[in-house]
Amino acid sequence: MKQLITLFGAALICAGLSAQDREQASENPDLYRHIRDVARKEILLPDIDGYKTLKTDLHAHTFYSDGDCSPEYRIKEAWRDGLDAIAITDHIEYRPTDSKMEKYLQVEKRGETDLNVSVGLAQKLAPSYGILVIPGTEITRNPREIGHFNALFTTDNNKIPNDDPLVAIRNAKAQDAIIQINHPGWARNDALLTEPAKQALAEGLVDGIESVNGEEFYPRNIEDALNNNCYVCGNTDIHDTSYDFYLQSGSYRNMTLVFAEDATLSAIKDALLARRTLSYGFGTISGPKELLEKFFLASIDFKKISVKDNGSGTALLTNKTSFTYYIKVPGCSVNILLPALSSIRLGFGQDAKMQITVSNMYYGVDKNPEVVVAL
Ligand SMILES: [Zn+2]
Ligand SMILES: [Zn+2]
Repeated sequence: MKQLITLFGAALICAGLSAQDREQASENPDLYRHIRDVARKEILLPDIDGYKTLKTDLHAHTFYSDGDCSPEYRIKEAWRDGLDAIAITDHIEYRPTDSKMEKYLQVEKRGETDLNVSVGLAQKLAPSYGILVIPGTEITRNPREIGHFNALFTTDNNKIPNDDPLVAIRNAKAQDAIIQINHPGWARNDALLTEPAKQALAEGLVDGIESVNGEEFYPRNIEDALNNNCYVCGNTDIHDTSYDFYLQSGSYRNMTLVFAEDATLSAIKDALLARRTLSYGFGTISGPKELLEKFFLASIDFKKISVKDNGSGTALLTNKTSFTYYIKVPGCSVNILLPALSSIRLGFGQDAKMQITVSNMYYGVDKNPEVVVAL
């Protein structure tokens, strides 16, 4: 007990010191500098099927199109937010900052914009943060009739633009790019796929579809993705900062969870081509049923803690992850909260099995995965 008290005391002293630690400047003894700790938020998630779970954002903007931040800021932000990889995908056709800057600087229009600059700047800084940068761009057309498409893993964004959106998509595909249908329900009265999107799908040009973009969630597009052999993704499409949009309200930023052989760009591309992804946004996880079930089961430890004579009893469910789960069990109409890094007790029947519906996971409209766990 004494040792415990001593340790507790030491911890308190350390906490007190680190909160106000400062260093006397060698060049000026009258100057003290506060020590600023900038920490990365680690997000604990399980690996599944022998693959590494990578936290990625496949859609982000900088002030090279209409975002508020520099490409370098996006890298620092991604690191702080716990990501492994981020795609820099500035708009091709919508770049209001160009004309704003020309106006601020009072210069004449300076010719064609180089569409690779933001990616290049992000790539330059990223290695020192251990962040992988997926080069990309967003083909940006009328959201009602055509829609927006991300081209990822592009090699030269300047060779993509074309008046015909399908030709632009084909130009990207000629670079071996991954094509993704973005925010299918944004600025529209429904989330039905547009005619050009359907045509691109029919031509085999599309690899993925967003089920989550910013605060928006489109359950019907999970089904579009799965029915068309596409990956399901959840991305920020961030224009302001992740602090403004997510962190200040206590949320993680949206993520596409990519189940990859290793933490490399080529393994991420392989995983996208193999459709091994889940989408995360504001606590909602979506994707293929089988991956959802595996991910949930790998997230939770199930343990019997007491058994009655008739075989029924009480189990302990421990959520080892940073995600919160909402579950339903037979005989209980309300959701049971299984918070991040926490345990709850639940009863089980005489067959020593638990039937669990995961209410915050979706593989389609009103489709929640259900697992049966033998204790
Ligand atoms: Zn867009
Ligand atoms: Zn966008």
